[in-house]
Amino acid sequence: MKVTEAELVISAVGQDQYPNDDLPEIALAGRSNVGKSSFINQLIQRKSLARTSSKPGKTQTINFYKINNMFYFVDVPGYGYAQVSKTEREKWGVMMEEYFDTRQSLKACAMITDLRHPPTKDDVQMYAFLKHYELPVVVIGTKMDKIAKGKRASHLQQTIRTLQVGTDDTVIPFSAETGEGKKEAWRMLSQYMNH
Ligand code: GDP
Repeated sequence: MKVTEAELVISAVGQDQYPNDDLPEIALAGRSNVGKSSFINQLIQRKSLARTSSKPGKTQTINFYKINNMFYFVDVPGYGYAQVSKTEREKWGVMMEEYFDTRQSLKACAMITDLRHPPTKDDVQMYAFLKHYELPVVVIGTKMDKIAKGKRASHLQQTIRTLQVGTDDTVIPFSAETGEGKKEAWRMLSQYMNH
């Protein structure tokens, strides 16, 4: 897909701030620092529209990026930062539930994992959380450029096995460095961009 317009419409802290133009939404989830912003920026060909690295302590927001006036990428707060306080974790949970529980226009989720390592406990929980909402999930196994070609298939299998990825979902090996997997990611996500 050629992205001609990409705009951060709102960084929402609550439901009343979500956009109300009813465009389809694709959520983007992932552990803090996994490469989520790099994924968005590579897909939409912007150097730094999505702010990289949401550090702990920063206000957690749900960021709505309107793409081509056609759909939203919805960047939800990262998870799994060891240093965050219990209060912050609770806030994260409330925010996630508020969005995932009620959002009619939410069509699918791209969940970013680090293909170099087996998915963490947090990743496993996140995938289960998304499936609890019966949401189609496209798992993006990023940083594939860091893995020797001959080892990529086994890393992929390990991701599928550990997350218990269902037959309806896919794992796409991806690199924000080289752009590998980008076409496939667009192809998979495009099917959820129609009303
Ligand atoms: P976020 O916190 O999940 O948004 O993570 P960022 O997009 O800021 O990425 C975290 C770090 O990983 C940065 O230093 C990126 O340059 C690096 N990174 C992200 N994606 C890739 C990738 O596909 N390959 C490599 N080699 N590094 C990556």
